Amino acid sequence: MKIIRYLDSNHQEKYASLRTDGTAREISGNVFDTFTVTENPANISKLLAPVSPANLFCIGLNYRRHAAESKSPIPEFPVVFMKATTAVQNPEDPIFLPRCLRSEQVDYECELAVVIGKRCKNVPRDEAINYILGYTCANDVSARDWQGKWGGSQWCRGKTFDTFAPLGPCLVTTDDIPNPNALAIQLDINGEVLQDWNTNDMIFDVPRLVEFLSGSTTLLPGTTILTGTPHGVGFARKPPRWLKPGDVCNVTIDPIGVLSNPVVEESFDTAMGGSEWT
Ligand code: MG
Repeated sequence: MKIIRYLDSNHQEKYASLRTDGTAREISGNVFDTFTVTENPANISKLLAPVSPANLFCIGLNYRRHAAESKSPIPEFPVVFMKATTAVQNPEDPIFLPRCLRSEQVDYECELAVVIGKRCKNVPRDEAINYILGYTCANDVSARDWQGKWGGSQWCRGKTFDTFAPLGPCLVTTDDIPNPNALAIQLDINGEVLQDWNTNDMIFDVPRLVEFLSGSTTLLPGTTILTGTPHGVGFARKPPRWLKPGDVCNVTIDPIGVLSNPVVEESFDTAMGGSEWT
């Protein structure tokens, strides 16, 4: 099943099930507990990221060829960092190039995102799938200057500016993606394909990541895991390919769809207050 989250014409946040014909039916109940798909057509005023994450875990250097282009050794354990949940952005809404705290090296990273469906802790890898609600597309937008030379030896500053975690366009439940480590994943900017690989190249696969992240650690419903990016990122290109105003960044994972976000510069207004739904 494909699940979307949206605002209706009364500005109420709702979920719906997306049909193959493109229409959507309202969901009643709680997608993280019990829910039913009604016959009521969804009255979609604005599409939102399919999940409002409880926590946002990310994995670095989780594809072999990306580790190689980053000139980093294959890690012994998953490289974990976190983004603030305020970095989440909706499909079709802009990625803001930071201008108040300025970056000149904003990069893209297409990623498969895992959404936890049930509270869990110490999950063995062969039971991990039972705790996953589904999957969506993500872009782990990264300001390399703030990640590297001004980052204080860690990645948080450069990875967690507002709008640096676009998610969507829908969540596909586990029954429709039985193996998350056999998915074609692609990123293009303005139609130029820059990343084109498969989730079967992950160093630590999805069940292992759930096992590792839940070790002695509670994962809440809605916890979202960005599972790493394949090779082809902007900083490793010659010359580097940084995001610039006017770009449109598209992440495609075939059974999920296309997560599309335009790139604009942060304006004075957004620097002072942000917008209600980012
Ligand atoms: Mg990443």
